[in-house]
Amino acid sequence: MLPRTPPPSMEALLYHAQMEGILPLTSRCNMQCVFCSNAYNPETCEVFTIPPRPLAEIEDSILWLTGSRGPIVIGESVTRIIEGEPLTHPEFPEILKLLRKHYPDRIIRVTTNGSLLTPELIRLLSQLRVELMVSLNTVGYRKQVMGDKQPESTLRNVEALGGKARFEGSIVALPFITGWEDVADTAKFLKDSGAWSVRIMAPGFSRFHPLAKDAASFDLDEGRCFSRDLQRQLKIPVLFEPPGITTVTPVVEYVLPRSPARKAGIRPGDVITQVLRRSVMTRTEAFERIRDHEKPRAVYDRQGVLYETVINKQRFEASGLVMYDDLDPKAWFGWERESRVKRRRVLVLTSAQAKPLIEHALELRGLKATVEAVPSVFFGGNIGAAGLLTVRDFIARYGEIAGKDSEEDSEFDIVTLPRRAFDPWGRDLEGVSYKAFEEIAGKPVVLA
Ligand code: SF4
Repeated sequence: MLPRTPPPSMEALLYHAQMEGILPLTSRCNMQCVFCSNAYNPETCEVFTIPPRPLAEIEDSILWLTGSRGPIVIGESVTRIIEGEPLTHPEFPEILKLLRKHYPDRIIRVTTNGSLLTPELIRLLSQLRVELMVSLNTVGYRKQVMGDKQPESTLRNVEALGGKARFEGSIVALPFITGWEDVADTAKFLKDSGAWSVRIMAPGFSRFHPLAKDAASFDLDEGRCFSRDLQRQLKIPVLFEPPGITTVTPVVEYVLPRSPARKAGIRPGDVITQVLRRSVMTRTEAFERIRDHEKPRAVYDRQGVLYETVINKQRFEASGLVMYDDLDPKAWFGWERESRVKRRRVLVLTSAQAKPLIEHALELRGLKATVEAVPSVFFGGNIGAAGLLTVRDFIARYGEIAGKDSEEDSEFDIVTLPRRAFDPWGRDLEGVSYKAFEEIAGKPVVLA
């Protein structure tokens, strides 16, 4: 039994979420999705439920959002606070107005299931330049998949967005319930309703979920192939998650028509090599540097020939480039310094998806470290994201590595664990500190 440390106060949790640009509003939701990550967690999984937060409390804490210059994110489950449907918050329009007043230039992004959109709200979203991620998931199986009691009304409300507010659509693909045809119909519906892109996500279920077996047999390559075909048919970006990328090369997936990047000559398949006369190592670096600057100068490689261009856009304005997310360069260079990887023997424990990306970045930097993928014992099923790994998962994997070759074990000076698996206090999803790993493995840990 691993020692658990007591959870921080709700105020501290909210403070840290907001410092990262995440504004939790409420854990309430008007749907009951079969894939909802809020259900079927292991008993000891530490998540928190909040009622709709009072407007005055949000106003008092609004300055906490200054910790990050990136987008202000509402309704996306990325912390331990369960995010419900933000539009169920009775003061949702007032909250948006408040945010825009305080942050006239920041991107504000809201994830919603779309069922509570109204013409007035859509007007306000457009006026305040709020971007939406509409998690529609299905057009034909709404009762079965989302527990939607008024599917026709939801579809009408989403259709009303058409050309009035900027939005992306998302679909958790459940072909074993809906068939691929419904996934295609849903993507087409989103496009016809004005979505500028569609994200198709593979289902992720813990071993406690009744559909865990179906999710385990989900063929990721089939999903990726299906998404590429759909992109060709619909002529909008259709991105699949997890994307299956194995390098950090800044490849452009898609360029929106009539966008600043398109006008600058950039095309899908080009590789961005420099932005503002500095070379870029990863997709995330290229994308963010272009996004965060006015009229950035960029160099791109097309089939071995280098071209230089200026992307005529405002600071923080979308360039029209669509790229997958990979490694954050600031975090990477911070890790290089902290782990002293040039002089020490480092073991990196991470997710199976991140392993090839980290190995590629090491190669580009001329560095050496051992990178090992860690399966999830705690959640089980087909859960594999680094943010959902726990100390017990890392210990189990470390035991295998150490057990396999005890000499190899003694070769490591330090172990790196993914920071996103831990809260700001270094506690995992069970409330176990990474220090428990240090004690058991007898190795110092760097979080990165
Ligand atoms: S709409 Fe989102 S929060 Fe609500 S049940 Fe579905 S997945 Fe969960």
